Amino acid sequence: MNLKNLLDLSDDIFKTLTEQSTLGISVSDLKGNYLFANNALSIMTGYTKPELLSMNNSNLLETELIQVEHEVINQCTNDTGKQKNAQFLIRRNDNSLFTALIISKTINLGGASCILATIQDISEEVIKNNETKKKEHFNNIIREVSNDGIWDWNLTESIIDFDERYYTMAGYQRGDLSNRISEWYKKIHRNDVANVISQFKAYMAGEIKNYDVEFRFKCKNNNYIWIRQRGKIIEVDENNKPLRFVGTHSDINMQKEYENEIILQAHFDSLTFLPNRFLSLDRLTVACEDAKRKKTLVALLFLDLDDFKKINDTLGHEAGDTVLIEASERLRSAVRSIDTVGRLGGDEFIVILGGLKTVNEIHPIIENLLKKFRAKFSIRSRELKLTTSIGVAFYPNDAEDTSTLLRHADSAMYDAKAKGRNTFSFYTDEMNTIAQRRLCIEEQLHDALTRNEFFVVYQPKIDFSTLNIMGAEALLRWSNPTLGQVSPDEFIPIAEQTGFIVKLGEFVLKEALKQAKIWQETSKNFQIAVNLSPRQFRDPKLFSLIKNTIDHCKIPPHLVELEITEGVLLKGQDYIKDILTYITDLNIKLVMDDFGTGYSSLNYLRTYSFDVVKIDKSFINEINDSAKDKALIHAMLSMSHALGIKVVAEGIETKEQWESLKQLGCDYGQGYLFSKPIDVKAMTTLLKSKKNICPD
Ligand code: C2E
Ligand code: MG
Ligand code: MG
Repeated sequence: MNLKNLLDLSDDIFKTLTEQSTLGISVSDLKGNYLFANNALSIMTGYTKPELLSMNNSNLLETELIQVEHEVINQCTNDTGKQKNAQFLIRRNDNSLFTALIISKTINLGGASCILATIQDISEEVIKNNETKKKEHFNNIIREVSNDGIWDWNLTESIIDFDERYYTMAGYQRGDLSNRISEWYKKIHRNDVANVISQFKAYMAGEIKNYDVEFRFKCKNNNYIWIRQRGKIIEVDENNKPLRFVGTHSDINMQKEYENEIILQAHFDSLTFLPNRFLSLDRLTVACEDAKRKKTLVALLFLDLDDFKKINDTLGHEAGDTVLIEASERLRSAVRSIDTVGRLGGDEFIVILGGLKTVNEIHPIIENLLKKFRAKFSIRSRELKLTTSIGVAFYPNDAEDTSTLLRHADSAMYDAKAKGRNTFSFYTDEMNTIAQRRLCIEEQLHDALTRNEFFVVYQPKIDFSTLNIMGAEALLRWSNPTLGQVSPDEFIPIAEQTGFIVKLGEFVLKEALKQAKIWQETSKNFQIAVNLSPRQFRDPKLFSLIKNTIDHCKIPPHLVELEITEGVLLKGQDYIKDILTYITDLNIKLVMDDFGTGYSSLNYLRTYSFDVVKIDKSFINEINDSAKDKALIHAMLSMSHALGIKVVAEGIETKEQWESLKQLGCDYGQGYLFSKPIDVKAMTTLLKSKKNICPD
C-alpha cells in the first residue's frame, strides 16, 4: 500500500487532532515530498493543502538554512526514530519569511519510513529573545564601562544583594559582607550615615524625586572610599508600598579628592594654609549670626605687619614668604582653637573672636598677640624684629553687617599704625571719618591735575662748608576746594596705590626742572632734587621722560638730583638697575632718601652708584638725645665718605642738631632751622637777596 493511501485511511481522531492543532503538522517521505499537511501549516505558509502536497520541503525552506535541513534529513535517515529539533527560516507563499521550530521524527508508516514533523511559528519569540539578549549585552557593556556596582534591595525582608563589582570596589570578596541592610549601614562612615538614612526615608515617602547620596564606605582594609549611591523603586504593592529598590554604587573617590583639592584651593591660602579672604569672611558672617542668636559679641581684629613691605622689597619675596608663614603660626598660637585666624592677602590677617560677653575680654588676647611678635624672626640667618598693628571692631556695637565691620576694623588698624605701630586701636566713629577722607582723597585726586590743584614748593639745601643755598628739594603740594590742603604724606601713598603718581611725578619733574633752569640764570650751580616714587619705576616711559625733560629744559644733568627710597630698589629687578645705570650714565645725581630706615641700605650703596645719601630725619631728631643715634649718624657719615658719597641731613630743626652734624662732618643740610619748603615766589626772592638763612 502506498503511503498516501495509508494516510487517507487514517481514522477520524487523527484528522480531528491534526486539523484543530495550531501547530503545523506534516508528513513527508524521506526525500522531503509532502504526503500530508494540516490546516495550520497551510495558514502558516499561505499555500493551500493541495499545493503543499505537490511540494517538497526544500521549496519552503530558505536557502540559507538548507545546510541545516540536509543535516537533519541525513541524520534522520541514518538515525531513524530519533527526534530532531531545529530552527528554520520558512518562506511563505507571499515570499515573506518566518522562523519556525521544527520537531521531526522518522516514523514507520505501513512499513515505509517517513518523517513526521510539527512546525511552530516562533518569529515573535525569536524577536523577543533577541531583544532581551541585546539588552543584556548592552547592560553588561554599560556596567563594565561605568564601573559601577549594582545592588538590589528587598525592602520587605531588609536584605540587599550586590553584584561582583560592588564587592571589588571596596576590596571585598563575595561572602565578606552580610546581606542584612543593618550590617550594610555599619559600613557607612558615622558622619554620613544619618544623611543616607534621611535621604532614604525621604525618597521612600515620596518627599524627594531622586535618591542620590554620597557617603564614605568602609573598605576591607578599614580605609574609607567615597561612594555615590543612586537608586529607584522598581516594585510596589497594591497600596503603593515600595517592595524593591535597585540602584548603583559608584566609586567617586577620585572625584572627591579633586573636589577637596579645589575646595582647599578656593578656601585656604596656599602659602600659610590659613582660611583665605573668602572663607574668613564667611566665618565672620557665621560668627555674627551666632552672636545675634546668643546675644553675645564678636571681636574682629584686623592685623597688618609693620614694615613688611620693606622685608619683601629688601630681602626678596622668598624671605617675605617665610616671614608670613612664621607670622601666621604665631597668630594661630596666640588665640583659642575655636577662633579663626585668616589671611586676607599680602601681610593682612584677621582674627575672629566669637562668643564674647564684654569688650574687655579681648585684652588678654591682644596682649598675647602683640607678645608673640616680640621674639625676633630669624630669616636667612638674620634676626629681624617684626611687629604688628591691630585694629579692633565689635559686632554688633560698631557695625551690624560684616563688610562695615571689616572696614571699621581696617580703619582702627590704620589708627594703630598712626599711633606708632606695634599697638592696637579700637574702632571709633572718628576713624570712620578718616576712612571716608581716604576715599574722598582718592576720588578728588582723579581730576586734580586737570583742575590745576597741584603746585611745587622748594626747600633750600645748605652747603655746610659755605653756608650758601646750594639747591633745593622740590616738594609737591595739593590744595583742593573740598579737602583743603592735603599733605603729601597723605596723598602720595594713595596716588602710589592707584598709579596716579605716574602723572603726578611727570608734573613735578617738568615743573621743578623748568623752574631750576630759571634760577640757574642767577644762581649758577643751583641743584634741583626731585623725588621719584617706586611706582614710577614700573612706568616704561620713565627714563625717556627724564631724558626728554632735561633736554627740553636745557638743564645740565649734573645739577639734577633724583631722590629714591629703598622701596624703589625692590627685589633688585634688572630693569630697575638698568634705569638707574642710564640715569647715572647721563650724569644725573642719584640720591638715597630716608637713609637708615630700611634693611639693606648698606648693600644698596655697594650695588648702585649713589652720589648722595640723605640721613632720615628720625635720626636727626634724636641726635642729641640718643647716643646710639649719634653713633649711627657717625657711622653713616664715615661709611658714605669712604665710598665717595656726599651726605645730606634732612629735618634739621635746632641749632644743636646742626652743630652736632657739623662736628660729625656732615656735608649738607635741609630743615626748618634754615627754611620750610617755600613757593616759587619766596624762593626767587630768597635767591635774589642772597640772604644767609643759617642762624648765627
Ligand atoms: P621726603 O622726600 O623725605 O621729604 C622731606 C620731608 O620732610 C618733606 O615733607 C619736608 O617738608 C619735611 N621736612 C623738611 N624739613 C623738615 C623739618 O625740619 N622738620 C620736619 N618735621 N619736617 C621737615 P613733605 O613735603 O610733607 O613730604 C613728605 C614726603 O612726601 C616726602 O618725604 C616724599 O617722600 C613725599 N613727596 C613729597 N613730594 C613728592 C613728590 O613730588 N614726589 C614723590 N614721589 N614724593 C613726594
Ligand atoms: Mg626727598
Ligand atoms: Mg626724606
